[in-house]
Order: sequence, then structure tokens, then C-alpha cells
Amino acid sequence: MDFHDTHEEAAFREACRAWLAANAPRKSRPDEVFGRGLDAAQRMEAARAWQARKAEAGYGAITWPQALGGRGGTPMQEVIYRQEEGHFNVPVGYFNVSLGMVIPSLFVHASEAVRAEHVEAALHGRTLWCQLLSEPGAGSDLGMVRTRAERCTDGREGWLLNGQKVWTTLAQFAQFGMVLARTDADLPKFEGLTSFYLDMKTPGVEVRPIRQASGEAEFNEVFFNDVFIPDSQRVGAVGAGWKVTLTALMNERLSIGGVMPPALWRTAARQMQQAGFGAARALADGRMRERLADLYLNAHGLWLLQCRGLTALGKGREPGPELSVAKIVAARTLQDFAYLAIDLQGAQGVLAASERGDEWELVERLWFGAAGMRIAGGTDEIVKNNVGERVLGLPPEPRTDKGVPFSQLARA
Ligand SMILES: Cc1cc2nc3c(=O)[nH]c(=O)nc-3n(C[C@H](O)[C@H](O)[C@H](O)COP(=O)(O)OP(=O)(O)OC[C@H]3O[C@@H](n4cnc5c(N)ncnc54)[C@H](O)[C@@H]3O)c2cc1C
Repeated sequence: MDFHDTHEEAAFREACRAWLAANAPRKSRPDEVFGRGLDAAQRMEAARAWQARKAEAGYGAITWPQALGGRGGTPMQEVIYRQEEGHFNVPVGYFNVSLGMVIPSLFVHASEAVRAEHVEAALHGRTLWCQLLSEPGAGSDLGMVRTRAERCTDGREGWLLNGQKVWTTLAQFAQFGMVLARTDADLPKFEGLTSFYLDMKTPGVEVRPIRQASGEAEFNEVFFNDVFIPDSQRVGAVGAGWKVTLTALMNERLSIGGVMPPALWRTAARQMQQAGFGAARALADGRMRERLADLYLNAHGLWLLQCRGLTALGKGREPGPELSVAKIVAARTLQDFAYLAIDLQGAQGVLAASERGDEWELVERLWFGAAGMRIAGGTDEIVKNNVGERVLGLPPEPRTDKGVPFSQLARA
């Protein structure tokens, strides 16, 4: 791979820079975090407005096909845009699930009429979509989904949905959700699942935000009590829900691998230069320098893995297992950064950003948030299992439920 921009990429980068400079405030420091002083609803509103502005200018969905309102650009252009956007103080990440997971699976599996009705509104941030997969007894193993959709028996052409989802990101702000439900319990666990989309304001849908240690409520419990879903809102065939879900999950892993804030190790290095251990400087301590070196090596290694994945995409090949490895390393590295920053402050490290000031915001967000990244999109253990089985060719885990009807499984 050539690590320099091609002529076209350099021109694209210039165009991104110029547009961003004309439309957004530049960060006052590389680690400035958007939204200080705004509550969650205000940040969400700002994110919608920013998404609308990006969509109008052709930066809302760079790799989407032009026929669907995207730019028809390359994954490299997406990376370039994100690198440049990283220098500006704008809301990022709010549409990762909506535009990065749900809508791409609508592209593949929904009817032309559904795409025509919903894609443009989602792209311009007028609607936000959430992903209703996980349940209290079904997370790593989504084959255990128990929320059920049963065909209406009162003459209506549709389904009645009952059950509960959990950890649904931004459901409290979402207009629509894509839900995975069991439509046949007599089939093996992955075969009796079907996907639907629904308006989150449909009678019988109840959203309860989950308050986190950080004080935020980024995800929710969602309850369904006799929720009517017209059959026209089924996505894919009856029984094809797992196939629809896999499309979304593939996209999730692609986006989670690339979440490293730019030059994070430089922020850590600056903090280390400033910190003292008693009379000595932290930088004089070999153990601290080693942690900084690990951070740098992981961040740089991730960048190289990303380049390898992009090279594969650029040559029309599927990215290899490097993206699974990248997700594990990225989440762990972000967590290590937060731990290092806190350790460097000694007892002061336990203070919140509201007490220490804006510069502490990134550390606080990562301290609370990075652990979740090690769970979302497949826990570390599950990703390692996948790497063990699919990449290293190790013997698979024993699967006693293979081919067994869901209704006969012990936990059902
Ligand atoms: C920030 C965040 C956002 C999320 N957003 C959404 C969302 O928008 N929509 C949604 O549907 N879900 C969402 N989730 C849920 C997420 O997908 C699940 O938390 C995840 O899949 C793990 O499932 P679980 O929590 O049920 O844990 P479990 O599956 O119960 O796992 C518990 C522990 O057991 C381990 N374990 C389980 N099975 C195995 C195995 N076979 N081998 C080894 N170890 C194993 C796991 O690694 C973990 O440590 C989100 C989660 C987070 C943290």
C-alpha cells in the first residue's frame, strides 16, 4: 500500500477541508469533545442538524451508491473525510447504528418501496433508526431471541409483537427500529427468526432509558406489548431474519474497528510530560514510558491494519480477519489510554471533568465508554472465538443445539 494520498485523494481531502472550514468550528485542542454544556437531547438535535448539512453537501454517506443519495465514493474517501472531520468540533457517532448498520441492511433486504420511503429521510437525519437485537437472555447468542411475532388472527395482514429488547442504543430518540423476532419456535434457533421494522411510536412500544454510571443514558430497554406490525414492514422473507441481521453486524464490525481518536498517543505523551511523581517527572519512570510506548505501538499497528483492510477493499476483495483483531485492540487501547491518564494524576485522577475542566472530558468519556466498546458488536471473548475458529482453524466450540428446534432448547 502507498501511504500517501493519490492525486484524486489529495483533491478530495482539500475539498473536505474547505467545506469543513466553511461549515464547522475548528477544535481548540485535538482532544476537544463536542457537546460540553449540552444535554443529551440537545446533542442529538445538533447531530441531526450536522447530518443534514453533511448530506446536502454530499458527505452524509460517502460510500453509499449515488442512486440511494450517497456519493458513490470509496472507503478511502470515507477515511479521509473522517480524518479531516476529526479536526472540527462537531457531533460524531450518533448515526453509526442508523446509517452504518440498519439502513445498509434495508438496502439489501427491503423492498424498493420501503427504500424509497425511508432512505432519504434517514440520510438527512430527519429520522433515526435503532437496532433491536439483544435481549436479557440473548446477546452473544442472538439465536436465543425470544421476542415473538405471531401472525394476526383477526383478519389484519400483519403480526403481533411481544417481548423485550435491551441495550438498544439511542432508542429514546429513534423514530424507527429494526427488530429481530421469533416467528417459528419449532425450527432450529437461527431458522425461525424474521426481521421487521416498526415506528417506535406504535401503540404497545415502551422505551425505558438505562441510566449509566456516567449519568448518561445511551441505551434503553424496549418492551413490546401486542404491537401490531403490518406485513409490509417485514424485511426479507419469513425465516430469513438471521441473514438480514448478519448484513447489519458485518457493517457494525467494520465501523467499530475504526474508532481511534486521531493522535491519541500524543495526548497521552503531553499528559505524561506534564505529570509528576512526587519530585520526579512521570516521563522519568520506565514503567510509565513502557505504557506510553504500548499505546503508540497499538495505535500505529491499528492504523496499519486499517490500511491493509482498505487496500483489500480498494482491490475489490473482502477485508480479512484483521478487522476482528482491530476491534479487540482498538477498544482495549482506548481503555488503556484512560487508565494511563488517570494513573498519571494520582489521587486527582478520580475527579470528574466538571471539577477538572474541559481537558479531562476525553479521558472521562473513554473511561466510562471504552469498556462498552469491548462488549458492543461482539464481546472480546466472542471475537477471539471467531478468530480462533475462522482464522487459526482451531477446533470449534461444541454446539449441542445445532439442528435442535428452539422450543426444545433447555433455556427456551
Ligand atoms: C455500548 C453498547 C451499545 C449497544 N447497542 C446495542 C444496540 O443498539 N442494539 C442491540 O441489540 N444491542 C446493543 N448492545 C448489546 C450488545 O450487542 C450485547 O451486550 C453483546 O452482544 C453481549 O451480549 P450480552 O450483554 O447479553 O452478554 P452475554 O452474551 O450474556 O455474555 C456475558 C459474558 O459471557 C461471555 N460469553 C458469552 N458467550 C461466550 C462464549 N461462547 N464463549 C466465551 N465467552 C462467552 C461474554 O464474552 C461476556 O463476557 C450494545 C452494547 C453496548 C455495550
